[in-house]
Amino acid sequence: MGATSGQGRQAGGTPRAAMADLLAGNRRFVSGQPVHGHDVTAAAAASGDQQPYAVVLGCIDSRVPLEAIFDQTFGAICVIRTGGHVLDRAVRGSIEYVVGQLGVPLVMVLGHERCGAVQATVEALRIGQRPGGSLAHLVDEIAPAVTEAGIDDPAVLPLAIRRHVRRTVRTLRQDDLLAGPVATGRVAVVGGLYDLATGEVALLDPG
Ligand SMILES: [Zn+2]
Repeated sequence: MGATSGQGRQAGGTPRAAMADLLAGNRRFVSGQPVHGHDVTAAAAASGDQQPYAVVLGCIDSRVPLEAIFDQTFGAICVIRTGGHVLDRAVRGSIEYVVGQLGVPLVMVLGHERCGAVQATVEALRIGQRPGGSLAHLVDEIAPAVTEAGIDDPAVLPLAIRRHVRRTVRTLRQDDLLAGPVATGRVAVVGGLYDLATGEVALLDPG
């Protein structure tokens, strides 16, 4: 497992090392040579403690299983998934816990192409009808990114997906309990985008 035992693979490592390990895992996945893909067994699950080195917040989309696309084994990363990686108090509290209590140095927000949650928000804004129930929370949270991208822009979906990742990153960087460690460099919050066609994760600049 030498390929995966980088410096970042532990709480208290640096954000840079954690990012390198995460992206190395994605490259293994893309190349069709995952180290852990074959080892999704109860024995592997029971083999150790958790020492996560990153927390990834992604979408519920069934095509984007986060541990798989980063080729991570049990205990390596914490994963949070909501529709369109929308934040709420439970999500923020979970990230605060992982960063504050488990000492994790890296938070990645991962959007993906053709996101149904963003598409649903585009459609809701186009017809001017807010959905009922708690679905409205998702639309409300994604709507500013769609408006910024321009509802009439033919490329509104890919543009809004990127803006929504960046907005989510900015919100987390300003979070009450995250802003301090982010300011000192102990923790990094970064945005990424998953390509459904290639399996590749690309980092997004802050924009
Ligand atoms: Zn999605």
